[in-house]
Amino acid sequence: MLTVPIVQLLSITPEAESLIERAGCTCYGSTPGRPTQRIARWIEMGHESVLEHASATFAVTCSRVASHELVRHRLASYSQQSQRYCPAEPDFYVPAELAQEPLYTELLRDGAHTYGLLLGQGIPRQLARYLLPGATLTEIVVTMNFRELRHFIRLRASPRAQPEMAELARAMLAILTQKVPSVFGDLAKN
Ligand SMILES: Cc1cc2nc3c(=O)[nH]c(=O)nc-3n(C[C@H](O)[C@H](O)[C@H](O)COP(=O)(O)OP(=O)(O)OC[C@H]3O[C@@H](n4cnc5c(N)ncnc54)[C@H](O)[C@@H]3O)c2cc1C
Repeated sequence: MLTVPIVQLLSITPEAESLIERAGCTCYGSTPGRPTQRIARWIEMGHESVLEHASATFAVTCSRVASHELVRHRLASYSQQSQRYCPAEPDFYVPAELAQEPLYTELLRDGAHTYGLLLGQGIPRQLARYLLPGATLTEIVVTMNFRELRHFIRLRASPRAQPEMAELARAMLAILTQKVPSVFGDLAKN
């Protein structure tokens, strides 16, 4: 079983801070050259539309429970592994709290076995998948602009969020803080 969530940065706007500053300076007729200070001030005053010019794309491996929560964020683009077309054998998310719970792991194993039996009898994947649980692992590629990423991280890296989602959002935040500290550094301090 994989240790998930796995969060991999696939792409990020190059020189994002310069681009954001360039866009913001257009509003005020000022000359670019101080991206860090300006971006911090614009975020503080709520002038966050300038952040929409930059974006990041991540490949995320997580449970279907978490991916269902992820796709509720509408200001994003997604491409998700299909349970109708992908031949991969199902693998499952095991929350740390349930790792020693034999009933949980037994039911996952039985479910995977039954799924395999159905496929073996010629039942199409699009039907057999109905018995796969929310713990089934999936891969999803997500692109969000920086404004939406800040919103997503505020909601989902919070202690109120579901733990797997919080882990996923915090992994994204760690990457983004390292790549673009002026845009995400304040969130990492909270
Ligand atoms: C702790 C927690 C518990 C939750 N529990 C539940 C639950 O029990 N049941 C449930 O159904 N959902 C639940 N949710 C999901 C939540 O209601 C949102 O659907 C989800 O967080 C997506 O956020 P968002 O609406 O800000 O969407 P995003 O797509 O991230 O949108 C970003 C922002 O754009 C604006 N926006 C986007 N679309 C519209 C629109 N159509 N109209 C107006 N403004 C818009 C809003 O300002 C929005 O905040 C929960 C979320 C969290 C964090």
